[in-house]
Amino acid sequence: MALIVHKYGGTSMGSTERIRNVAKRVAKWHRAGHQMVVVPSAMSGETNRLLGLAKELAPGKASPSYERELDMLASTGEQASSALLAIALQAEGLQSVSYAGWQVPIRTNNAYTKARIESIDDARVRADLDAGKVVIVTGFQGMDDAGNITTLGRGGSDTSAVAVAAAMKAQECLIYTDVDGVYTTDPRVVPEARRLKTVSFEEMLEMASLGSKVLQIRSVEFAGKYRVPLRVLSSFTPWDIDIHEEAASGTLITFEEDENMEQAIVSGIAFNRDEAKIALRGVPDKPGIAYQILGAVAQANVEVDMIIQNISKDGRTDFSFTVNRGDYAKIMDLLRSSVIKGLGVEDLEGDTKICKVSIVGIGMRSHVGIASKMFRALSEEGINIQMISTSEIKTSVVIDEKYIELAVRALHKAFDLDQPATA
Ligand code: ADP
Ligand code: ASP
Ligand code: MG
Repeated sequence: MALIVHKYGGTSMGSTERIRNVAKRVAKWHRAGHQMVVVPSAMSGETNRLLGLAKELAPGKASPSYERELDMLASTGEQASSALLAIALQAEGLQSVSYAGWQVPIRTNNAYTKARIESIDDARVRADLDAGKVVIVTGFQGMDDAGNITTLGRGGSDTSAVAVAAAMKAQECLIYTDVDGVYTTDPRVVPEARRLKTVSFEEMLEMASLGSKVLQIRSVEFAGKYRVPLRVLSSFTPWDIDIHEEAASGTLITFEEDENMEQAIVSGIAFNRDEAKIALRGVPDKPGIAYQILGAVAQANVEVDMIIQNISKDGRTDFSFTVNRGDYAKIMDLLRSSVIKGLGVEDLEGDTKICKVSIVGIGMRSHVGIASKMFRALSEEGINIQMISTSEIKTSVVIDEKYIELAVRALHKAFDLDQPATA
């Protein structure tokens, strides 16, 4: 008998019929002798609907008190689907109970709308499992030290599931979604994309951080830190398929590199439409400048992604960076109102119509010329590169948003990702 965590995403929970299907699948696993913890997302579209209502009432600036209410609001989506799943399981003849994050409790810090899980007390859940119940732990939400409800950022139910699996030392965490695994790139954009049977933890971490929304990045971080066996698979297979077949389907995230396996040089292509570029022109080139600009951004609790500082000319330089598009207006206001005046910057420019496209692969460590192959493929399509950043296993470029699909398709072909793997 093993403890297994299942997570079902929004589309998988999208209607009462689908919820019934989830319940039948979970019941199958329970009857096979497993202790089951299930983490559901809100029904598809619900989180957007709720946040849309808030925006209708107050399109203005975010503040901690406003963000607190956003979390109160958005967390209700998951709470509803958790109760519905427990009801569906009871209708299947199982004992089942659902818990909101604060009832477990799942403790987080107080960064509303993007809180981080700090601890999970599993006593209550374990007692229910030992009593033979299927336990539903509400995804996406937790509670801060002051008892406020927090949410974990978009896609955060993945992280709830992996964190619960880590805290409870589950044998495996299965992420059920609307695709049957992790693909070489988003199959909605490139129909020729191939499913990967396995993907290394490091590659998955890069792909998630670079925009592949199939797993939220923090869920991958948790899986790596606590070595949680993690698999992405489809919730759209018939619920009664053979459990062993189901358990071996999808994509397994692996932690050990298989020495004998030939690594693909590039395993996947990720893209991100959620970034915006900010450029400060004519910045005095003196010590402390980067700190003063980016320190202010960090103080506003905003993450910076790519950063470029040009070589200076006549004591001045250009300094550009990217932030999440949702933070763009806040950071432009902040720079305009305080930072740039104090520094004597000549001009401030912003562009929200950009996107980031990245190639990812462990094999890039041991091969040269990969980045230049990427640049050639883009140039052959006439796509101009605005920013570049590289690390050991990835190269990213910022380009005009209108070329995103063209770029992803061209790169997918240039790196032969539509061909079956050689290993
Ligand atoms: P869920 O609601 O189940 O959490 P998400 O929409 O968050 O589902 O994630 C699944 C989606 O991720 C897929 O429908 C697919 O369009 C997208 N996706 C992006 N990149 C990839 C990739 N490399 N492999 C598989 N799916 C991807
Ligand atoms: N419902 C949340 C969202 O839409 C969390 C999740 O689905 O994982 O982002
Ligand atoms: Mg998701």
